[in-house]
Amino acid sequence: MFIKTRFAPSPTGDLHFGNIRTAFYSWLYAKQNNGSFILRIEDTDISRSSDVFSKNIIKTLKWLNLDWNEGPYFQSKRINDYQKVINFMLKNDLAYKCYCNSEVLNTIKKNQILKGEKPKYDKRCRSIKKSFQSFNKYVVRFKNPISGKVSFNDLVRGKIVFNNSELDDLIIQRENGIPTYNFCVVIDDIYSNITHVIRGEDHINNTPRQINILSALNAKIPYYSHLSMILNTKRKVLSKRNNKINILEYKKLGYLPEAILNYVVRLGWSHGNQEIFSIKEMINLFNFKSITKSSSVFDEKKLLWLNKYYINNLKINTKNILKNFFKKKNINLKKGPSLDLIIKHFSPHCYTLNELFNSIFCFYKKLNINYNKKWINNGVTKNTVFILKNFYKELNKLLNWNMNNILKIIKKLSVILNISLKKIIFPIRIALIGSSYSISINKIIFFMGKKKSLKKIKRFLKYLKKFFIK
Ligand code: GLU
Ligand code: ZN
Repeated sequence: MFIKTRFAPSPTGDLHFGNIRTAFYSWLYAKQNNGSFILRIEDTDISRSSDVFSKNIIKTLKWLNLDWNEGPYFQSKRINDYQKVINFMLKNDLAYKCYCNSEVLNTIKKNQILKGEKPKYDKRCRSIKKSFQSFNKYVVRFKNPISGKVSFNDLVRGKIVFNNSELDDLIIQRENGIPTYNFCVVIDDIYSNITHVIRGEDHINNTPRQINILSALNAKIPYYSHLSMILNTKRKVLSKRNNKINILEYKKLGYLPEAILNYVVRLGWSHGNQEIFSIKEMINLFNFKSITKSSSVFDEKKLLWLNKYYINNLKINTKNILKNFFKKKNINLKKGPSLDLIIKHFSPHCYTLNELFNSIFCFYKKLNINYNKKWINNGVTKNTVFILKNFYKELNKLLNWNMNNILKIIKKLSVILNISLKKIIFPIRIALIGSSYSISINKIIFFMGKKKSLKKIKRFLKYLKKFFIK
């Protein structure tokens, strides 16, 4: 069997971690089997779909390197094809026109509720003769089998059975002639010869309806896998509506695609206790049996941990990501320490590329710091001027410029002036980088260079003079 999987997002929002997991598992399974992965944009709900979201979906998948073999297909461009199938179904008694307006439908519903029944379309138009001619508006409904069962073997959850009596005669074409979601999915899955449908468990109830349509059209039924929901830390389902966790935001924050994918693969799938997986390993090891049926909880800390791991184990191709990231932020790597030095000395402290950027941009830019008055009010005394003047003198004298010697000066000052290291370092930090930073100050001074460091201390001293006069 030639394996074909698909990712079929609706462009009604940005992609979140649940969507990416669906896409990634489908991608992995196709790759593992030398099959084909298809991208399909399900945009028939015109009022909720937007081009901006479609573009973002494509951008996100590209960023994550989840390449597709076919597509993107846009359902909105295939309306004629769906309508052809609907006409075929009408002709062959697989579907019928329903003329019930909302008033009729409401009455049916009310009566059913009064009788204590589950509200459902009562199939009254099913018996209208095909030859009946009317200019009234209608929808097209699928003739769902009246009795019997429909079942499928979910690759994650095992056998799932539905009674046909529970299923409505699904509307497959709206009054405006536009086919409905469940119908388009089926037609496209047939059209693309999809063998494995991997999607969220919110689609389980659609599956028996879709299988019935597939059967009516004598099409092969694909394998289905429904993935459990991802919950946020408040144990609410991660969704477009209640979580604005757009993956592209993570790109902006400086997460690496590998970290995102590694994180996502473990959201519901495992291989023993292994946490770190290369893409190759994921392709080899992925299987449906090891997907959990219970919901997973989105854990930002773990994602950060993985991102830190990947930042500190950059491969050659990911080094380019870093280069581009810095370039976008207008960092000219030629005007300061080399990328390798940055990676060696600063990456071990950083969880995201943004953090890395914040630690190093001062080496490349001539930025004049806007001193934070709050810090100065809380941490600066007349003593500060004294500390900085002494430090300036010692640093100026230093001939052998290395991190160790810089640290020695700071330590010596602390002893001589009898002031804690913390109090010595605080104003130096403000002077050099304008923030109360966590990375070792001697590293910062070293990479900033003697000239620039001295200049910055001088500038801060000048500022403090005015500050104290005020
Ligand atoms: N368009 C659906 C969604 O975004 C997915 C449909 C499917 O995978 O069958 O939830
Ligand atoms: Zn009707």
